[in-house]
Amino acid sequence: MTHEVTWSPAVTDAEVEPHLRAAFAREFGGAPDGVWAAPGRVNLIGEHTDYNGGWCLPFALAHRTFCAVRARPDGRLRVASRQAPDQAWEGEIEQVAPGAPGGWVAYVAGVVAILAEGPAAGPMGADILVDGRVPLGAGLSSSAALSCSSAVALVDLVPGLAGVDRAALAEVCVRAENDYAGAATGGMDQTVSLRAEDGHALLIDCSDFSLTAVPWTLPEHEVLVIDTRAHHSLADGQYAARRDACERACRSLGVDSLRELHGADVDEVLGRLGGDAEAQRRVRHVLTENVRVLDLVAALEAQDAEEAGRLMVASHVSLRDDYEVSCRELDVAVDAALGAGAAGARMTGGGFGGSALALVRRDQVDGVARAVHEAFLAEGLEAPHLLRATPSAPAHRLP
Ligand code: ADP
Ligand code: MG
Repeated sequence: MTHEVTWSPAVTDAEVEPHLRAAFAREFGGAPDGVWAAPGRVNLIGEHTDYNGGWCLPFALAHRTFCAVRARPDGRLRVASRQAPDQAWEGEIEQVAPGAPGGWVAYVAGVVAILAEGPAAGPMGADILVDGRVPLGAGLSSSAALSCSSAVALVDLVPGLAGVDRAALAEVCVRAENDYAGAATGGMDQTVSLRAEDGHALLIDCSDFSLTAVPWTLPEHEVLVIDTRAHHSLADGQYAARRDACERACRSLGVDSLRELHGADVDEVLGRLGGDAEAQRRVRHVLTENVRVLDLVAALEAQDAEEAGRLMVASHVSLRDDYEVSCRELDVAVDAALGAGAAGARMTGGGFGGSALALVRRDQVDGVARAVHEAFLAEGLEAPHLLRATPSAPAHRLP
């Protein structure tokens, strides 16, 4: 029925673990050594800033990807996912290479292959069964939840990997996504999945990946995520085009990274790009977005929901008009949420589909969710999925 709002609730350990252990026994025989979980994420603000050496402010979701893992000493890898029942894979870790295996398996096999490169790892292998409870492909980073859940499991199980800290592990997961799965990613997703703090957003300085945990100080407000379920196929090419435009601007401006221009007079910088209107719009987004991230941190410290909401809206407008990565579904979601009383709303993630978020007073969440749902139907769009986003814990082993 399209008349009901569709919620995607986060699941508890108890709702997943027994089923996952039983499925592991069916898939591989016997019991796993343990079960691990890694969260998806939502980015409060700071979009397309990561590959420009800027700031972003994501938090880990209560929605997680679980994996049951058993170490084996023989160099073999077996992987299966409850979300991809016909695409299990089995082979030698030594033979894993970029794109082989491909598809979803690359995210896991890439992590295993990279970790196995280190001389300290010794002979390793694993049986891995995944159960992903982060909506797939919704811009909430099910991909990082997938790679990070396997990564933390291996570090816990393989004695030779005990010294790999979370920062190094995030780099491993980024490499797995970039090189093995062929998915462009700037590092925000893996960092927050592995290094978030429960109850906090994570300010990431993407110039050096230094982190500041920022307490969530708006107890009367909630972050409502609107998964538009739209995935426009131009996303990959457009992501590369945005990166190219930023690199072109850096060359014109004589800097290695747009980050070097933080604090500079924006109009003066844009003037130096005279004639390249596209680069001007892209750079204006990046420079103003960095300021908005730091302003949102200050708004959280001041417990100022109104200001936080205003910054989110400004971010959306900049992404829509200057960076040109929004789309109709995201704009409908943002406009409907604001029209129904949200303090702020914006697209989140790379754009061209995926999810939007809204900052909403707790007593208005149901009303805003319904208004968004109805706006989609009125526009002839497929009903969105809604989820409540709560700043949650990083990847961990289930007790
Ligand atoms: P997002 O990370 O925002 O969810 P991506 O396109 O980056 O979107 O990643 C989605 C891809 O990650 C899927 O197409 C699939 O290849 C892989 N994936 C994520 N979770 C799972 C899972 N539980 N089982 C199988 N594949 C998964
Ligand atoms: Mg992803």
